[in-house]
Amino acid sequence: MKAMYITEQAPKGPIGSFKRTKIIATIGPATDSYEQIKALIAAGANGLRLNCSHGTNEERAQQIPLIRQASKELGKPVAIIQDLQGPKIRLGDFDGVIPVKAGQHLSFAYNVAYEEGGHIPTQYDLSTKVKPGERLYIFDGKVRTSITAVREGVVYAKADNDGILIKRKGMNLPDTDFGGDILTKKDLLDLDWGVGQDIDYVALSFVQRAEDIEHLRHLLHKLHRDVRIIVKVETRAAVDNIDAIMQTTDVAMVARGDLAVETPAESVPVVQRQIIGLGQKYGKPTIVATQMLLSMVDMPEPTRAEVSDVATAVFVGADCVMLSDETAVGKYPIDAVQTMKRVITYAEQHPPLKTIYPNERERSMKHAISSSVINLAVNIDAKAIVAETTSGQTALQIACHRPETVMIAVTDQARTAQQLALVYGTKSYVRPADPEAAQKLTDWLYENKVFGAGDVVVTVSGRYPGRIGTTDTIKVRVID
Ligand code: PGA
Ligand code: MN
Repeated sequence: MKAMYITEQAPKGPIGSFKRTKIIATIGPATDSYEQIKALIAAGANGLRLNCSHGTNEERAQQIPLIRQASKELGKPVAIIQDLQGPKIRLGDFDGVIPVKAGQHLSFAYNVAYEEGGHIPTQYDLSTKVKPGERLYIFDGKVRTSITAVREGVVYAKADNDGILIKRKGMNLPDTDFGGDILTKKDLLDLDWGVGQDIDYVALSFVQRAEDIEHLRHLLHKLHRDVRIIVKVETRAAVDNIDAIMQTTDVAMVARGDLAVETPAESVPVVQRQIIGLGQKYGKPTIVATQMLLSMVDMPEPTRAEVSDVATAVFVGADCVMLSDETAVGKYPIDAVQTMKRVITYAEQHPPLKTIYPNERERSMKHAISSSVINLAVNIDAKAIVAETTSGQTALQIACHRPETVMIAVTDQARTAQQLALVYGTKSYVRPADPEAAQKLTDWLYENKVFGAGDVVVTVSGRYPGRIGTTDTIKVRVID
């Protein structure tokens, strides 16, 4: 029989056995086939990132249905993320290597042809954004320069250290204010393309302030897209504005690659912990990204430090950990996901896991209901919390308290189930809107031996199923 819902399959093991921390894998040449995509999901990936910085939209248009098909076959909702490149500034094309000496004066111009000693080409017109005195870092911060002047479209800078420049290497501008203009022409084209695509999240790169997120939300609204926004925290300005950003976004990613260039590398772990804490405070899922198992690009085993990095993200309570090059271009993409899953599972079996800031939470109806549900579940030794949710908010609010009890979300929206795939400790099922949805799902899980007779579950729902924001009912049910 053809599966009716993406989540027709009941979990195979006991209800508490699935991993709580979710995995995002990036699709790339190493995983660009139905078999590889299915293997990534089967190995433990809950979200797949389509990175607009590489490849083409034609390729992505092929990958999206493959992901949906694999997800359905495996009975597991998967979040698809469209990652917009943003103002990722790169050097343009030139032959060979340009050596740089400390104190040397350099000049950069948009899209020019390079001649020795002339202006160095860039793929973005910096001259409209930068000011003298600001820092310009090139090649992951390996060459540091300070801007001395901007004249007639040319940016002049003085090198602070020796190094080399190679074509297309990235440039970072930690002091530059983009004045709210962080969506490039390419991003707008990619967004336009994405309108017709089955995508759950859009990730926004190089955000500087909360208004950048509001601007994108406004655009998405105009395009009638039901996607949610992941803010990539990777600029110095974003760190300065982190509280407002966390209140505004739907999800936050600690994008450690660029973040470690724009802010001192030693500050990144502290920022990571801060973002995870704010995520728990405001009910916003968080993702720890970049270089988590980097050595697995070439090697079948991770380093000790990488294993520890993944475990640390679990201990402090991130919702997701992410793989980039490991699964996009690495030699061992499936092993990388399996390794991540093993590390997560072991860490989760050894609490304490979380730094939550319960005292900082404002008093509100949603927190009161969520914490009552969790207390009740713990006190009656419930096997699961079953949340009926349309938008996903009910499940999200409970998840941000990092409950020890497993949460099962039941929703009539496939989009919601897919978006909840990135949320800590939540397993989602899609069922038609029904006042009895939670009860029917529980019965079905019982028939599938996920629950046994006498098991207790706590159900949280609203009086008006399908209506957003009406969570007001908590029920205890003994299964028989
Ligand atoms: P990127 O973002 O992979 O798109 O650069 C992540 C990061 O900067 O860490
Ligand atoms: Mn980045």
